Amino acid sequence: MRPLLFLDVDGTLIPFGPTHPAAPGPDRIDRRITHRLAALPCALVWATTWTDPNRDLCPHLSWPPLPTTPFPDPTPAQLAEDRWFGLHWKTRALSTRAASSPFAWLDDELTTRDRDWLQHHHPAPTLLIRVDSARGVGSTELHALECWCAGVSRPPAAAPPAD
Ligand SMILES: [Mg+2]
Repeated sequence: MRPLLFLDVDGTLIPFGPTHPAAPGPDRIDRRITHRLAALPCALVWATTWTDPNRDLCPHLSWPPLPTTPFPDPTPAQLAEDRWFGLHWKTRALSTRAASSPFAWLDDELTTRDRDWLQHHHPAPTLLIRVDSARGVGSTELHALECWCAGVSRPPAAAPPAD
């Protein structure tokens, strides 16, 4: 099964840098990293509030348009639960978007509370990687993703023959 990879943009794909400017641009994106992201055996999906990342980022990265993630308002009951757990506002929507598929998520704001909640509420494996917003996605995160994708994509081992 091909896992999804949800991609945040600000502070993840686009590093804020040490001075943390209000609006860093796509010229800060490391193309070596985006080449490796595109080569992963997973389906890239935007998980950002950028209005049109396919228009504003994909041409810059030589990427085809990617699917996006809707972020509908949670119901009052969901909102109360999300606040109780301390979930990131994207977490529930990403799980819904992935349905029964495994997914990885790169974001500079996710926390262990999101990992814990997904472990109990999402029906497939997940990998949540918190990115340092000053430097953005780097080789460490890519290596973790490559290892995880290889494990998730591997077909289950065949049962040993019965005696
Ligand atoms: Mg961010």
